[in-house]
Amino acid sequence: MKKSLKDYDFKNKRVLVRVDFNVPLENGKVTDTNRIEAALPTIKYLVNEDAKVILMSHLGRPKGEFKEELKLDPVGKELANLLHRKVKKVDDCIGDEVKKAVDDMEKGDVLLLENTRFYKGEKKNDPDFARQLAENADIFVLDAFGAVHRAHASTVGVTEYLPSAAGFLLMRELNALGDVMENPESPFVAIMGGAKISGKIAVIENLIDKVDYILTGGGIANTFLKSQGYEVGKSLVEDDQLQIAQDLVKKAKNKGVILLLPHDVIIADEFDNDANYKEVPVSEVPVDWEILDSGGSNTIKEYTKIIKDAKTVIWNGPIGVFEFENFARGTNAIAKALAETDAKTIIGGGESAAAVKKAGFMDKMTHISTGGGASLRFFEGKSLPAVEAIDDL
Ligand code: ADP
Ligand code: MG
Repeated sequence: MKKSLKDYDFKNKRVLVRVDFNVPLENGKVTDTNRIEAALPTIKYLVNEDAKVILMSHLGRPKGEFKEELKLDPVGKELANLLHRKVKKVDDCIGDEVKKAVDDMEKGDVLLLENTRFYKGEKKNDPDFARQLAENADIFVLDAFGAVHRAHASTVGVTEYLPSAAGFLLMRELNALGDVMENPESPFVAIMGGAKISGKIAVIENLIDKVDYILTGGGIANTFLKSQGYEVGKSLVEDDQLQIAQDLVKKAKNKGVILLLPHDVIIADEFDNDANYKEVPVSEVPVDWEILDSGGSNTIKEYTKIIKDAKTVIWNGPIGVFEFENFARGTNAIAKALAETDAKTIIGGGESAAAVKKAGFMDKMTHISTGGGASLRFFEGKSLPAVEAIDDL
């Protein structure tokens, strides 16, 4: 068991909180506030406990250099709106400016530091950089579920210098994901979609030992289809994964897991929303067309029925190019089936979460993870270094 917020007295303490404010920005504005909202329970709790709340996060991939467009100022504005209180923002995450700002804090104040990835020491988990991050604080709280699979200075390094605890979001994620992986009620269904099979092999391998069904879609299904001898034309396929896909099909069969490929799909003559398109059986994909949506009528019918009868469903990866309206049918149908089933429904993966949101079913799911890579790592059954690093109870 890891220490949680209830295990500390935060009154007047300088609390350094690693949040996941890695949010999408467009023209200097936050376009999706989910991750900021998800961090509010921990922040509000610490404010109410009279802590001095110092927030840090990474944003994007500045590669260890200062990048004007990856500053956290827009996040600070959004956070202040959501919190209904003042959030002071500084332009660094270490050094004199931070020290001074922290010295000026009163209990209940909220301070936002600058993007930790402006320093190369962050991703290298450089001990000296971690020490500088920790320098102005008394306690460290980890609440950035989206970053727990990375051993960076702001997630793991700082725990060498400060007593630590897991925040509410982190606990909620670990409980929700842990629950389905440890005590799944059958029938247990995994829907695996998304672009590439290569990033998800370890997940599928781990799930084969636990689930009753694997429903495939998206680019992953294309690779499975090709591995079974189907023509998939110009579809997104990983040709170097065909053998692995074949092995997974065999392994599923040996374990009595029903691994399904789409029966019919939506194909297009171009990778474009306005391309010509039609629905065909998977055996009739012309060489110069491509599959952009696994959601053919029979596929949707079969997948929906399995989801309806399930008790536990996890979903990772859209089953089509849902960003194109004309190819979102399959993904929307899956989202709807998940919204309507009585099963526990867990969504992992950034694009999958976005698809559920776009379809308007967010509050119909049991849990939507805020961490794409982190939830995948969890489904792989691997340990999460930043969680390991938190003090034990
Ligand atoms: P997640 O973020 O949920 O884990 P991934 O990152 O693995 O999902 O993949 C999401 C992407 O997969 C989406 O942007 C979608 O456009 C793409 N995709 C799904 N099906 C196809 C397809 N048939 N061809 C090309 N891209 C696809
Ligand atoms: Mg993704």
